[in-house]
Amino acid sequence: MAAAPDCLFCRIVAGDLPAEVVHTTDRAVAFRDINAQAPTHVLVVPRAHYANAAELAHADPESAAELVRVAAEVATTEGHDDYRLVFNTGEGVGQTVFHAHLHLLAGRSMTWPPG
Ligand code: IMP
Repeated sequence: MAAAPDCLFCRIVAGDLPAEVVHTTDRAVAFRDINAQAPTHVLVVPRAHYANAAELAHADPESAAELVRVAAEVATTEGHDDYRLVFNTGEGVGQTVFHAHLHLLAGRSMTWPPG
């Protein structure tokens, strides 16, 4: 799917907005969250625009899998065996950016269930 006008993460993917990019592939870009909630807090996004993870998985399952592969690789690179992967889907659970993104959180102890 083409880039969406006014989409923050489309602009980061395009290089039009600055980001601390830690990993890229043909399908995905991983960059540090601007408001980190853990020592490692990286967002892995598809280069193509989809509003959320479910839309991405329906339209392009290989890219959805790629997000997980990239997150695991970044976790390993940053020395984490234990990590949390999160897709927020919908405003009610805290999604604020409507371009699919996988949160990689690691480097501190975490509780379950999340708040
Ligand atoms: P959501 O709440 O699951 O939609 O996650 C959106 C995430 O994007 C939040 O954790 C924000 O801190 C993060 N974020 C917002 N703007 C930027 C940015 O410009 N660069 C990096 N991360 C951002």
